[in-house]
Amino acid sequence: MTVFGKNTVRVDLPVDDIPKYWYNITPDLPITCPPPLDPITKKPAGPDAMWFFPKNIIMQEISCERFIQIPDEVRDAYVKMSRPTPIFRATRLEEYMKTPAEIYFKYEGISPLGSHKGNTAIAQAYYNKEEGIQGLVTETGAGQWGTALSLACSYFNMKCKVFMTRASHDQKPYRRVLMELYGAEVFASPSHETEFGKKTLAERPNHPGSLGVAISEAIETVRKDPTTKYSLGSVANHVLMHQTIIGQEAKMQLDLIDRKPDYVIGCVGGGSNYAGIAYPFIYEHLRGKLDATFYSVEPKAVPTFTRGVYTYDYGDTGGMTPIFPMYTVGHSFVTPPIHAGGLRYHGKAPTLSALVKAKVVTPLAVGQQDVFEAGRLFSKLEGIVPAPESAHALCSAMNVALECKAKNEKKVILFNMSGHGLLDLGGYGEFLGGRLSNNYEPKELALNDLPVEKEIR
Ligand SMILES: *Cc1c(COP(=O)(O)O)cnc(C)c1O
Repeated sequence: MTVFGKNTVRVDLPVDDIPKYWYNITPDLPITCPPPLDPITKKPAGPDAMWFFPKNIIMQEISCERFIQIPDEVRDAYVKMSRPTPIFRATRLEEYMKTPAEIYFKYEGISPLGSHKGNTAIAQAYYNKEEGIQGLVTETGAGQWGTALSLACSYFNMKCKVFMTRASHDQKPYRRVLMELYGAEVFASPSHETEFGKKTLAERPNHPGSLGVAISEAIETVRKDPTTKYSLGSVANHVLMHQTIIGQEAKMQLDLIDRKPDYVIGCVGGGSNYAGIAYPFIYEHLRGKLDATFYSVEPKAVPTFTRGVYTYDYGDTGGMTPIFPMYTVGHSFVTPPIHAGGLRYHGKAPTLSALVKAKVVTPLAVGQQDVFEAGRLFSKLEGIVPAPESAHALCSAMNVALECKAKNEKKVILFNMSGHGLLDLGGYGEFLGGRLSNNYEPKELALNDLPVEKEIR
């Protein structure tokens, strides 16, 4: 079902077209992705190293099956999450920029949660419930993930505890209210709830928090309560896989209007929304059926792909998770308090890291000022206020559209608008008032205390 305006402005799919399978890219990776290591022995990690996940999730995490069927209960809940989500063409932005390029965006912000995170939260809550788990514990940066898991737990009648990085907790108080409305318990991290939180605060009382610290706190909490499990909002293979419904829908939608993307662009925190939009297109690309450029966009403040190294590192700051093969700026890197809280993570998903290493995906980095300027322009022209995270993708999409203008090329640009920014207006307010902090380009990364001292070649 397509809706045409003067130009094609919007492409919808019927509810029946919600994908029936998740796509697992593991068997298609052009270079082998080495196994995670046990944090203590530093030998390849067995399933036991992931004790904080239920068995069915661990099976997905290590699966080499290409397509994994989506349970009916999960597809049902996706309907309530406003799936399938629309694709819009940003015609007013194109006109303003006077670019010959066509700019399309997949709009995940239409979900009641305001972002793509429900795609995996629903699936994870379902699988945990299936194994008799009574509650889930997690971390959240900007709050989108915590919000998503809170609602998913409510759907499946489970408890939910969320450790929210303090910088975001203080910047976005309404996120906390939303999580509490959905029934979750929320703590600003570092907190006094855990030993690791107390230790972190003792060393640095005004610590802004980071996803790495919050993950350590969540895992410590799960260790103390065996009726609960831990849930991760990004980075892990199973999470990226759950998000691939975004790209599968986008592919069907572009097919309906007879377009193929020349560029597939998305922002990267841990890599889940980018994998979501890009992996189904990379599937085609690797089979010679699509010739596209894949750009992942990160903040200059956390330059994991653009300045970090491809090595082994912990998933958290406290060193409690397995050691993953990935690009990292170092697990002890204190990420600057940029407004895109969802992009303040030191590492990147192992599969996406392998694709960057293999040069299938090209990483870009943009600064906070440019990101907010892009977000302002988009709000004014297209009416949607982008989440600061998503505005990174938008900013790079606009840069590509400008290159197309310079070369007079009529390319098709697809980017993922991973969420809306209606709970990020504090950041936009600072931007409009000229009070936005600088671009935070860190002088040094934290590459001195990596658990394994070698780069992966
Ligand atoms: C969490 C989040 C991100 C970053 O996480 P990824 O796993 O890299 O997708 C990006 N955009 C929005 C709106 C988010 O909520």
